Amino acid sequence: MSSSCLFCRIVSREIPAAVVFEDADTLAFLDIGPVSEGHTLVIPKIHAEHLSAGTTESAMAIMRTVHTLAPKILTAVGATGYNLGMNHGEVAGQEVMHTHVHIMPRKAGEPRSFSKTHPSIAEIQSVAERIRLQL
Ligand code: 5GP
Ligand code: ZN
Repeated sequence: MSSSCLFCRIVSREIPAAVVFEDADTLAFLDIGPVSEGHTLVIPKIHAEHLSAGTTESAMAIMRTVHTLAPKILTAVGATGYNLGMNHGEVAGQEVMHTHVHIMPRKAGEPRSFSKTHPSIAEIQSVAERIRLQL
């Protein structure tokens, strides 16, 4: 836990987030600036700056959650595919220095945009509720 790390503070519930799933090792919550409906971040509960800075076990736990969760997210938002994304280091575009995988659902006929959108907190919470109902 790093008290200055935004995602550690989400893990400790100091900062609110639209949490959709958690297990002993990982937490998943909706991105505040989604590129598509249901854009979810999966993070390890134990702080590491990026995937390669954490343990192999942590990397496996993150991918286990992605594997479990992604199909449920697709069902919840009516998507049929998804992009996975990880940025490692500032030079690669990483903005939050706590390992995270982006799950970005894709719907047929929609542009495959990587630009952030700015839904209201109520809209994000409503998508999160639909995802939680699939679990
Ligand atoms: P990165 O560029 O580091 O791979 O992505 C960080 C992501 O975290 C961005 O997509 C951004 O929208 C998201 N993000 C930044 N601050 C917050 C926040 O306070 N809450 C949530 N839920 N997402 C955040
Ligand atoms: Zn952290």
